[in-house]
Amino acid sequence: MSTNTSTTYQMLINGQLVDGASTFDVINPATKEVLAKAPQASVEQLNEAVASAKSAFPVWSALTHDERKEKLLALADAIEANGGELIETLSKEQGKPIKGFFDMGAGFEFGGTLAWARATCGYDLKPETVQEDDNLKIEIHRKPLGVVGSITPWNYPLMISIWHVIPALLAGNTVVLKPSEMTPLTVLKFAEIAKDILPTGVLNIVSGSGEIGAAITAHPDISKVVFTGSTPTGRAIMRSSADNLKRLTLELGGNDAGIVLADADIEAIAPKIFATSFINNGQTCAALKRLYVHESVHDKLCDELVKLATSVKTGNGLEEDSDFGPLQNEKQLNIVKELAEDAKAKGAKFLTGGEVVDDTGFFYPITLVTDITDGARLVDEEQFGPILPIIKFTDIEEVIQRANADDNGLGGSVWSTDIDNAQKIASRLECGSAWVNHHGAIQPNAPFGGVKQSGFGSEFGKVGLEEFTSIQTVHVHKA
Ligand code: NAD
Repeated sequence: MSTNTSTTYQMLINGQLVDGASTFDVINPATKEVLAKAPQASVEQLNEAVASAKSAFPVWSALTHDERKEKLLALADAIEANGGELIETLSKEQGKPIKGFFDMGAGFEFGGTLAWARATCGYDLKPETVQEDDNLKIEIHRKPLGVVGSITPWNYPLMISIWHVIPALLAGNTVVLKPSEMTPLTVLKFAEIAKDILPTGVLNIVSGSGEIGAAITAHPDISKVVFTGSTPTGRAIMRSSADNLKRLTLELGGNDAGIVLADADIEAIAPKIFATSFINNGQTCAALKRLYVHESVHDKLCDELVKLATSVKTGNGLEEDSDFGPLQNEKQLNIVKELAEDAKAKGAKFLTGGEVVDDTGFFYPITLVTDITDGARLVDEEQFGPILPIIKFTDIEEVIQRANADDNGLGGSVWSTDIDNAQKIASRLECGSAWVNHHGAIQPNAPFGGVKQSGFGSEFGKVGLEEFTSIQTVHVHKA
C-alpha cells in the first residue's frame, strides 16, 4: 500500500489543534491505498475535551440566541469558503463521486451541509405563554442541556456532523464530536475551520475508534448523546448512557419498503426509484431498500430500472464520468456480497450486476435482483449498498403487512397516480417518514427520525432544535 499523507490532520480540543496519542490509517476506498493518517484520541484527551466543553458552557449558553446565530452563520460561510478542499476530501475518503448520478455526490453532501447549517439558524425557541391573567403567568422556557456528545457515521460524514452540531450549539449547548474512524478527514478539516470562529471549548472534535465513542456515552459530564449509526451500536449507547440518565437522539438503521401500485406511472417513477435506491451507492439510511411492485407492472418497472442500471458507470469518485463510487469499506462490501450469495442460493434472478468486476477498490456494480421474496437475507436485512431486491405482490393488504413486518421503521413510500389512496396507504406504514411518489427526500424544515428499531427522537426544524433542550416551566404568581 502506498501512502499519501501530505496533509496533516489534528483534533480540536480546548481551542487548540492537537495531535492524537497515536495515529490510524484512513483508506481511500477507490484504491485501497492509505489516504492519510488520522489522530487517535486517548481517553485522557477525550476527558480534556469534555472538561473544556463543560467550562465553556456557562458563557456560551448565556449568549443571546442572535449572538450564537451570528457565530454559526459565520461558521457556515467559512465552510463554504473551503468548499473545494472539503468536497475533494469527502470524495477521497468516503468514495462518493464529486458530482455523481443525479448530482447526488460529494457536491450534493456539501450543498446539504450548508443548507442545513443556515436553515437551522432560522429557528428560535422563544418562551411560550401557557396562561396569563391578573394573578398568574405560566411560561415554558427551553434550556440547553450542557455538554452534548455527537457520534457520527461514515456515509455522510460532514453533513451528519452538521446536523448534530449546529442545533446543539444554537440551543446553547457545547459539543464534543467524534466522527467515524472510517471517514474522519472532512470533519477534522471542519475542526480547523471552526477553531478560528467559535470560542474556546464550545466545539471539540476528537477522532478515534468506537472505544472513544463508548467513553463519550459513559462520561458523567455529558448530558446528551446524539448518535447516527447502526442499530447494534445504538443499543450499546443506550445501555452505556443509563448511569447519568443521558438524553438520547438515536438515528439508526433502516430497511425501507417502497410499494408500487398497479396504477403507477412507471416511466415517470422509474428514475426516481432508481435514484433513491442507489443514492450514495445505497449507503443511505433512508434509501429505498425493499421494492414491492404490483405484479401487473413488475416487468415493466424492471425493464426501466435495467435501462438505467446499464447506463451508469461505477468508478473512482475523482473521475468526472463516475456516477457511483466504491463501497466505503471492505466490511460493507462483504455484507453486500454475502446478501447477493444468499439470494443466488435461494434462486433469485439477477437482472444486472451480482459479481465484483473491478477489485482495485471496494467496487460493486449496481445490482437489481428479482424472483426474490421475504425470508431472503437481501429482503430481511439492511444491505446498505448498491443491490436492490424487487419483490412482486398481488394484494395490497398483504404487502402493507410485509412492509411493516420489519423491525426497522425509518421510512416508507407508496407510488401511484391516485394520490389520496397512496397517502392513505402511506399513513399505515410503520415508519418515521412516509413519502408518496418519492422516497428518502428530506429537508431542513421537516422533522426526520425513526420508530421501532430505527431509533427515536427527531432531527431538523423546530422539533429537532427542541431535542437539544429541556423544558423549564416558570409559574409566576403575581400576588
Ligand atoms: P456504526 O454504528 O458502526 O458507527 C457509527 C459511529 O459509532 C462511529 O463513529 C463509531 O466509531 C461509533 N461507535 C462504534 N461503537 C461504539 C460504541 N460502543 N459506543 C459509542 N460509539 C460507538 O455505524 P456505521 O457503520 O458508521 O453507519 C452505518 C449505519 O448507520 C447504517 O445502519 C445506517 O442505516 C445507519 N445510519 C442511520 C442514519 C439515520 O439518520 N437514521 C443516517 C446514516 C446512517
